[in-house]
Formats: sequence, C-alpha cells, structure tokens
Amino acid sequence: MTDPHQLLVRNPATEETVALVPAAGPQDVDAAVARAARVQPAWAALAPADRARLLRRFADTVDAHLEELARLEVREAGHTVGNARWEAGNARDLLLYAAGGAERLLGKQIPVPGGWNVTFQEPLGVIGVIAPWNFPMPIAAWGSFPALAAGNAVVLKPAETTPLTALRLAELGLEAGLPEHLFQVLPGYGDTAGRALVDHPDIAKIVFTGSTRTGREVMERCARLVKPVTLELGGKSPSIVFADADLKAALDPLSFLDNAGQDCCARTRILVQDTVLDEARDVLADALAAVVVGDPADEKTQMGPLISAPQLERVRSYVPADAPALRGSAPDGPGYWFPPTVLTGERPDSAAAREEIFGPVAVLLPFTDEQDAIRLANDTPYGLSGSVWTRDVGRALRVSQGVRAGNLSVNSHSSVRYWTPFGGFKQSGLGRELGPDALTAFTETKNVFISTEGPAQ
Ligand code: NAD
Repeated sequence: MTDPHQLLVRNPATEETVALVPAAGPQDVDAAVARAARVQPAWAALAPADRARLLRRFADTVDAHLEELARLEVREAGHTVGNARWEAGNARDLLLYAAGGAERLLGKQIPVPGGWNVTFQEPLGVIGVIAPWNFPMPIAAWGSFPALAAGNAVVLKPAETTPLTALRLAELGLEAGLPEHLFQVLPGYGDTAGRALVDHPDIAKIVFTGSTRTGREVMERCARLVKPVTLELGGKSPSIVFADADLKAALDPLSFLDNAGQDCCARTRILVQDTVLDEARDVLADALAAVVVGDPADEKTQMGPLISAPQLERVRSYVPADAPALRGSAPDGPGYWFPPTVLTGERPDSAAAREEIFGPVAVLLPFTDEQDAIRLANDTPYGLSGSVWTRDVGRALRVSQGVRAGNLSVNSHSSVRYWTPFGGFKQSGLGRELGPDALTAFTETKNVFISTEGPAQ
C-alpha cells in the first residue's frame, strides 16, 4: 500500500529499496512557495552578469559530480549508465547556456509618435515545475534552469518514483552559492503536492511534463487562475522509412527502445514503404536479437528495465502472447523487464498503433507513397517527434512540412538539443522549452512609453 507520508524509491533493475523520502503535503508546498517568494526579488535584482556567474558556478559543481549524478539516475530510474552520463551532462550544459541567456535577455526600443516605447522582460516570480519519472534529471533541468536564469525562483516537484537526482541537483546548487530557497525540490505525490503547486495563487507559472491525461487536468486548474502553463505531454512518433533509405540506420531499434521505450520521442510507429517491407522485417529481426538488455550499470548494456511493476503490467496489456511480433529477449527478474518487441500484425487504428505504450514496443505499418506516409504519420492525436528517412532531399522536406509534429529529424533519430526549441503539436503539448527563447518564456513583457516632448508648459 502507498504511504501518503513517504515515497519508496526502488531500483527497477533489482527491486531493492534505494531510499525512503518524506512526501511533501499541501502545507509544505505553501511554506516552500512563501520562502521562494521572499528570496526571488533579490535574485531578480542582481545584475544579469552576477546571476550568470552563480549559474556557471552551479554548472561547474554539477560537472564535478557528473559520475555521482549519473550513477544515482541508474539506481533510481534504471537508465543505462551511458545515457545517464549524457543526462547529467545535459543538465550541466543547459546551466551554462541559460547563464549566457541571462546576459542576453534584452528588451526593445520602438520609435513611436512623440517618443519611444521601451520593453522590458521581467521575471514572473515563483515557477512551479512538475517532472515525470522517465527523464528525471534533464526534465527537472529544462523547466528550472532557464527560469532561474531569467530571475525567477523555482519550486520543483519530481515524480514519486524518482526524486533523488533532483534533490541532489538542488543540494549542488546551494553548494555552488545559489541563494537559499531559490531552487527548492519538494518530492511528493501528484494528487497532493502536485495539485497544491498548480493551485497555489503565488505560483506564477506551471511547467508540466507528463502524460496527456494529467496535463489536461493541470491546464484546467491553471485556467481557473489564468495561470500560464507549458505542457510537455505524450507522443506516438513515426519513423517514416522510404525504399531508398539506409534501412539499417533507419531501423535501428534504439530509436524506440532507448530508455526501455519510456521516451516521449520514441519512434514507436515504424512506417515502411511497402516495396521494402519484407527486407525491413529481416533487418529489424536481426537488430532486435542483437540488443543487449540487462544490468543498466554495465557499460555494454543498451536497454535496462521498465520503471515499475504497474508500468510493466501496462506494457504487457498491449502485447498478448500470441500477437504476431518480432521479439528480442530480456531477463526474467527480479526487476521489471520486457523484451524489445515490434508488433507486425496491427492495424493503424488499433490501440497498440495509436496509444502511447511507454515501453520497448513498436508497430510496423506499411505505406504506399509520400501522401500515404504523411496521412498515416498524422493519424494520431499526438505530434511530438518523428523521423523521415530518404536520400531524396526534396521529398525529405515535403514530408517534414506535411507531418504535424514539433521535432522532426531527417535521416536521424535524435530530437533533443538544449540550444534548439523542443515541444509538441496537438495533444503532445503547449509551448516550447529549450532553445534561444527558453528564458523569454519565463518573463512578462512590460512596455513603457517615454515621451520626448517634455512636460506640458
Ligand atoms: P504523469 O502525468 O503520471 O506524472 C507526471 C508528473 O505529474 C509527476 O510528477 C506526478 O506526480 C505529477 N502529477 C500527477 N497527477 C497530478 C495532478 N493531478 N496534478 C499535478 N501533478 C500531478 O506522467 P508520468 O507517467 O510520470 O510520465 C510519463 C509521461 O510523460 C508520458 O506520457 C511521456 O510521454 C510524458 N513525457 C513528455 C515529455 C515531453 O517533453 N513532451 C518528456 C518526458 C515525458
């Protein structure tokens, strides 16, 4: 049974208890927001170069603890150690990028009749960040660091199952000299601490990353207070593979089973031109058999466990034992293991082809031509990511224009760079994180008219 007063952090590869963490309730949220609101004005009043200097020191401190943070992510989230190192490095790099952004957060001067309008980008105040369990460290960073750089304070609620790396990041911030209470991490449950943060009148904006179902509720609650909200939600992204593509690269199974498929950008709908469908099947079968699944702390491992028993049950429910599929292998347990799987007998309108499974499971679907590929790619409520694989540049561009998704890659499966914008179309979300406008999203624009005509005589 769940204890409302504490969170149980388990190693998903072994089911061993890693930590018991006190769970924050609504009163803790109130107290944290009040503390943040007290320290935020002084932080906002610092010269941007001074804020940047502290954030760079924070980045150095993260860098000095990179391996420790990565190993913690392996233990609490089951991420492969290689991926976890990338994640800790991503948090460090984003701090450096956001620090530079603080120094470049400029307003505009606009000539108008009788004078000038001058605009200022002013911080919002205290930002509430709610993070999911699938990428605990980077997503904590994406919501929090640009907000801090723009002069805000942050109260971050990590997911129930994965609070440890975020807590450690906050400690490292203090060690680096960030003002106390500026960046607070409050582990807790979504329906208590999460809701309290969303409903709090002194939280100026919510950055929510998680499922579309919860995101909808968060948006409804924010609407009552006319509170701005950024939503980074689910995905069911296509990989569109034309007959002229490099099939081996295009059908790399890590495109959908990286992080055991618990990746909002996972390319879980493999759309293949019908003329090369049989060949694609063979390539995928060989590739799935070669995936190294096992201990995430081992440098050679390519895929670790799912996060929890309920997640394993959810994934199993989409894959009946007799479903036509190509399958790799996975350990039996302890731990929450599911083999890499490509379902080959699904219809485009089946649940497995349309819903976000959030496990190492993809569907293989044929298409005939460019128009058919675009139609199939768009036949989902989501619009987060996708890949287009072809040697024809014109076709790559036409298809990229036709697919309604926020982050597309041509002849690549990668989606995320901290210096480029990230976010979804349709029910994959609202707003963008990262990229050159990341700080502006945590500001209000103030417009001041300055008369050049002098006071009336
Ligand atoms: P979730 O929606 O269950 O939980 C996300 C967070 O919201 C957790 O911290 C949870 O405690 C909190 N929460 C739950 N109920 C709440 C409520 N009523 N009010 C406020 N907060 C509440 O999602 P999850 O299972 O943790 O994460 C997986 C989902 O996240 C997937 O759908 C995935 O696609 C999505 N995701 C999206 C992106 C993106 O950038 N688009 C990135 C990562 C994950």
